[in-house]
Amino acid sequence: MSLKIENNLIVGAEVELSPNSSERYDDIELVVIHCISLPEGEYNNNYPKDLFLNRLDFSIHPSFETLENLKVSSHLLINRDGTLLQFVPFDRCAWHAGQSIFEGREDCNKFSIGIELEGTVKESYTDKQYLVLSDIINLLKSKYPIKKIVAHSEIAAGRKDDPGPYFNWEKIND
Ligand SMILES: [Zn+2]
Repeated sequence: MSLKIENNLIVGAEVELSPNSSERYDDIELVVIHCISLPEGEYNNNYPKDLFLNRLDFSIHPSFETLENLKVSSHLLINRDGTLLQFVPFDRCAWHAGQSIFEGREDCNKFSIGIELEGTVKESYTDKQYLVLSDIINLLKSKYPIKKIVAHSEIAAGRKDDPGPYFNWEKIND
């Protein structure tokens, strides 16, 4: 697959712009890998997308109640079947990292791109997800001064554990 970026969006991604974003002033130096599924472990629904677009119906599942006042987003979401969604253009900050620190710098949203994989920390990711993710990472590295690809758990230690022990780093290091 050969991907390209036009107007800070990946060509071919399903684009739905989230209001949860802010202006970016810093260079993009980091890619942060996350996972999400709502409810946890349930796939093939639009709930993560709805969450990022502030239109999730919190009454659908008891576990959604804790999400009610969250304003979050990611740049990208890669579903189990490899389909790709983009919520925030790369020249803006998505709200994915929360309280975070990388090499002494706080608020990693300012200088990172956030990628969510549909999944949980308790289960492997799909080959289709790795194929899309590795292509995206190569593309981003060619476009921005990326220093490192990190787990959310690395920059928000003690608070976050995604993408978890089943995420295979070897599949994105080529
Ligand atoms: Zn995360």
